[in-house]
Amino acid sequence: MQVHENISLKPYNTFSIDAKARFFNTFSSTEELEEHLMLYSEYPIFILGGGSNILFTGDYDGTVLKNDIKGIELQHEDADYVYVKVGAGENWHQFVLHCLNHNWAGVENLSLIPGDVGASPIQNIGAYGVELIDVFWSLEALHIAERRIHTFTPVDCEFGYRDSIFKNRYKNDFAILSVTFQLKKKPVFHTSYGAITEELEKMGVKDLSIKAISQAVINIRSSRLPDPQTIPNAGSFFKNPEVPTEKYEELKLKFPDIVAYPLAKGTVKLAAAWMIEQCGWKGYRKGDAGCHAKQALVLVNYANATGDEIYQLSEEILQSVNKKFGVLLEREVNIL
Ligand SMILES: Cc1cc2nc3c(=O)[nH]c(=O)nc-3n(C[C@H](O)[C@H](O)[C@H](O)COP(=O)(O)OP(=O)(O)OC[C@H]3O[C@@H](n4cnc5c(N)ncnc54)[C@H](O)[C@@H]3O)c2cc1C
Repeated sequence: MQVHENISLKPYNTFSIDAKARFFNTFSSTEELEEHLMLYSEYPIFILGGGSNILFTGDYDGTVLKNDIKGIELQHEDADYVYVKVGAGENWHQFVLHCLNHNWAGVENLSLIPGDVGASPIQNIGAYGVELIDVFWSLEALHIAERRIHTFTPVDCEFGYRDSIFKNRYKNDFAILSVTFQLKKKPVFHTSYGAITEELEKMGVKDLSIKAISQAVINIRSSRLPDPQTIPNAGSFFKNPEVPTEKYEELKLKFPDIVAYPLAKGTVKLAAAWMIEQCGWKGYRKGDAGCHAKQALVLVNYANATGDEIYQLSEEILQSVNKKFGVLLEREVNIL
């Protein structure tokens, strides 16, 4: 097996940060992963997907293993659902397109999210009113230290808003090998979130379909989010914070225009982008690190920013939002 030493991770993260990994390798099967784990047993291990939710703040003094396990397999079906097992190294959007082609419904609102299928449960990816949990059936993962394969059900994963057990208790403990999805044969359309209805009208759609919804989502996302190929970024850098209703009422008196969404459980989700914009960060640039001019939640690398510069900018944003609103933002991006 070839050992790759001192490898630049620049092509492997959408922030385009030029950090180095002491060792780097890819694996396309569980057996290959196990071989790597034996070979690199003395070093810390980091499992990499598409690199679209990571900020490397320095070189990684360990082994980065890129998941390349492929395969999309219809396992079984019943009257209402199909159960589809997908290799963790499949590209997420390609999987969505595969579902559209087979008329399997449920992931159309999650079109064009960058990254791999294996990372989708890590932060319970979500967009346009749908989250991974809505279609998740189970996953298989190898415990890196114990070298044993475990199966996780939705309850085991402890999914939350951009959150799961893999970001908390089991952070970096498992390599996800495959994810099984439960997809609907008869679609239930989710069009009320964001500008989907408006976009469908603009597209002149008469008969609603999962393909039409996917295209609407693609159109909206392409017009609003910076493409990492042009301006390197990792999508939303911060989560939208949840606060108790009383805190929201207090803020509303002081800031009548505050953007917020009431949640069923008696809390309110605040729009982090609005608060960041109010603090004057939208369009801000220091060196090559910046806050995107159209989307304040997205931090960008204009050319040669270091991960540390992006991190420092995120820290300044976090502190100013806390000072003005008394709300502590949480980073969505994984910091390494
Ligand atoms: C332009 C843009 C838009 C985005 N929009 C959205 C959005 O709408 N909604 C949303 O939820 N996210 C969004 N994201 C964030 C990102 O696309 C998702 O979080 C995605 O799931 C990350 O996948 P990845 O393969 O790139 O993960 P990586 O960045 O490679 O890894 C992320 C984390 O998951 C871990 N990981 C990855 N694969 C595995 C595995 N097989 N086993 C164990 N751990 C693993 C890594 O160790 C790391 O901790 C966006 C990002 C960008 C750049």
